[in-house]
Amino acid sequence: MQLKPQVRIAGVYLIIATLWILFSDSVLFFFRIDSSLIPSISIIKGMAYVLVTGAILFLHLRREFRQRDKLEEELRARIEEVQRARLVLEQSETRFRKAIEEAPVPMLIFADNGEVLALSRPWYEISGYEPAELKRLEHWAELAYGPQKTAMLDRIYQLFDLTGRVDEGEVIIRCRDGSERTWLFSSTPLGKLPDRRRIVLSIATDVTELRQAQTAALEHEGLKARFQKEQERNALVQRIIAALSHDLRGPLSVIATARDSLAYYGQRMDEEKRAEKLDVIGRQVAFALALVDDTVDMARGRLSEADYRPARINIEALCRVSASEVSSAKQDSHPISFSNPGRLEFAVLDEVLVTRILLNLLSNAIKYSPEGSEVRLEIDRRDGWLLLRVIDQGQGISETDLPHIFEPFYRAEDVRSIRGSGLGLSIVKDCVERHQGRVSVESQPGRGSSFTVELPEPGSHDVADQVS
Ligand code: ADP
Repeated sequence: MQLKPQVRIAGVYLIIATLWILFSDSVLFFFRIDSSLIPSISIIKGMAYVLVTGAILFLHLRREFRQRDKLEEELRARIEEVQRARLVLEQSETRFRKAIEEAPVPMLIFADNGEVLALSRPWYEISGYEPAELKRLEHWAELAYGPQKTAMLDRIYQLFDLTGRVDEGEVIIRCRDGSERTWLFSSTPLGKLPDRRRIVLSIATDVTELRQAQTAALEHEGLKARFQKEQERNALVQRIIAALSHDLRGPLSVIATARDSLAYYGQRMDEEKRAEKLDVIGRQVAFALALVDDTVDMARGRLSEADYRPARINIEALCRVSASEVSSAKQDSHPISFSNPGRLEFAVLDEVLVTRILLNLLSNAIKYSPEGSEVRLEIDRRDGWLLLRVIDQGQGISETDLPHIFEPFYRAEDVRSIRGSGLGLSIVKDCVERHQGRVSVESQPGRGSSFTVELPEPGSHDVADQVS
């Protein structure tokens, strides 16, 4: 046990005094000192006592003071050391906070009493909330998760029981401007604070654009597949028409032969023979007409199977896909430029019907234009009507043909050398009319043609009044 210095000094002093009192007279007696000298010796004794104890006290105090100075020196050094360590700690904490704040991804450190200890700039910049609004987890949950707040807080508080990193998956957060973003969370426990609170670090990756791009890619794929289906349908119609013209050759040549026999040998034939020839002609005509009717019914039936089903579609993407698909189907023989000055994206239309419109107009523009000439596809919106325009720099259409080109099977005289069924524009007209829209054409022979389709969007117009 370490005694206090003053207690030690007092103890030493008492011991010396007691020893002196007890044994000084015994010393005098031992040396048989004359009693007359006793008073003088007592004085000397007292003075010696004072001197001896003074000297002892001096030595003792000097030792104590030296020790105290040394201790003070050591203490000062320790205090400086601790202060330096604290400074280093503070600097490292500042650096740590700065590192969190400047991290390029959303990061948040929070304690199990709900206090938010640090958050990175992207956390509040992306979400749009002020750091002052996010002092506690409850505030964040209220702002970002709304009605799901309680469930999300439960999930967050379970993170304090973690022993290692966990990937929590995607969470939709609501931003200050009302938009929603998708964050992919991963959290790691960071141990305990000196006050024993447990802390967790949550890191988020904003995957909103990635997910949107994936959805757009899927949508693009879907559009492409549907467009290809339409192309097949169109090819089928062309094949049907080709088959029809082939099948008609049979009855027509029989009719021609019967008619020739009647014309050249009719006079010499008896009544029965002539009636037989006329009967052959009649039956072949009936057969040919039935063939035509069946084929038209079949072609139309296949095309008419789609009702008018308007939905919110990405018209911008549909135009792009159509342009690229038609272009690649025609071996990129004509550059197709797409212009969308009004930056239209969505419109309420029937996707299948619009696909047919685009497919036929773009294919015609390429078919009736010299190789390498540009075809333009434009979309715009005017007074609630969506405008689709296909412009080419091709051979154009004469004034005589212009009023008839939307009739089924009509083909201009000057395109006989180009393969076609004469059905494409009647299909376009049909699809436009199902939308209660209108289609028009401007053309200059030798300069090119411009087809304009105007489609009303449901709810934006009293469409019945506007049908052309
Ligand atoms: P097809 O192209 O199979 O003949 P369509 O019904 O698509 O049948 O077109 C009817 C007619 O209209 C064509 O035969 C052609 O004479 C004319 N036509 C259509 N589009 C164009 C165009 N872009 N340029 C010139 N003529 C066209």
